[in-house]
Amino acid sequence: MHTSTIPLFADINSSFLQQTLSTINSPLRGAIERNTLRFELLDEGVLLVEPESCKGSLALSAGVHGNETAPIELLDHLVSELLRGNINLKLRLLLILGNPPAMRNNQRFTHTNLNRLFNPERDNSGSKEDERANQLMQHVTAFFTNSSGPRYHYDLHTAIRDSEYEKFAVYPYNQRSESWNQQQIEFLGGCDIEAVLFQDRPSPTFSWYCSEYHNADAFTLELGKARPFGENDPNSLNAISANLIRLMQSEDTERTPIDSIRLFAIRDEIIRHGEHFELLFPDDQPNFSRFMPGSLLSRDETNCYTITGSPGYIIFPNARVELGARAALVAEDIDAASLFNTSASD
Ligand SMILES: [Zn+2]
Repeated sequence: MHTSTIPLFADINSSFLQQTLSTINSPLRGAIERNTLRFELLDEGVLLVEPESCKGSLALSAGVHGNETAPIELLDHLVSELLRGNINLKLRLLLILGNPPAMRNNQRFTHTNLNRLFNPERDNSGSKEDERANQLMQHVTAFFTNSSGPRYHYDLHTAIRDSEYEKFAVYPYNQRSESWNQQQIEFLGGCDIEAVLFQDRPSPTFSWYCSEYHNADAFTLELGKARPFGENDPNSLNAISANLIRLMQSEDTERTPIDSIRLFAIRDEIIRHGEHFELLFPDDQPNFSRFMPGSLLSRDETNCYTITGSPGYIIFPNARVELGARAALVAEDIDAASLFNTSASD
């Protein structure tokens, strides 16, 4: 069947988001130049923006979970600002709306969680999300291969549940990098990120993939609680929006001293082993809730998990995962001195 294509940004009143959501069977195609910037739509919801000369490369993604609308609206706003010529762009940009079919249905995903599929060596179930993960990995590979200057990837999300820290980052483990990047954490502090969770093991998320395979400074950013389109507080993401624009313009970014940001390491994963597995706290317990030593957090037929030693913090709990899968993370406090060679800074 013939499907016609619509020229890119033909309707100047229609945003990148609106065009992506409304063009299911007649995908946008093509490239345009505007205000010395080149915009090229590479795929559904995948937009490359290039200035005449550049100092680095920034991939920015939202909607990897289709119902996490605030970051989707932020990314859309940034595209509009670029189209209007309001950003003096100095970085190459790859702007990604992660899962448009799920976004159209206001669903987290259509078949399976896209943010568990960013590993080229995984078993591929052939789902829509598997196909999309492969597409996005190919676009990111093309984007970062042979790029010069620093590489960044921020994957923007909102969380299902409340959090003791409304905005927090997950810093993926990267076996190739020698150390964590303190400047990046301070930049995230300038984006209103209050806490950072350091991953000490591989996890097939989008940001992990960009870190592990492309050596980008990459983070998953949780930016508050997920709400439907139109119900987000328009000011909630002002700080990150402004700081991302400073980064895009290659200006000095806002930084928060590392001491003002809460840092957490993963202590344990609670695994669901049995059919009768249960988490022994309320379903709506906020992320980063603190539990004292002696607290019993989960049990099933043969196992239980109790906090020992020092207090533990519960993150991403979900009792209804498959057998053998992670039902929650338990984190603990770490201080900057144990992560960074702070004595070398004088
Ligand atoms: Zn998400």
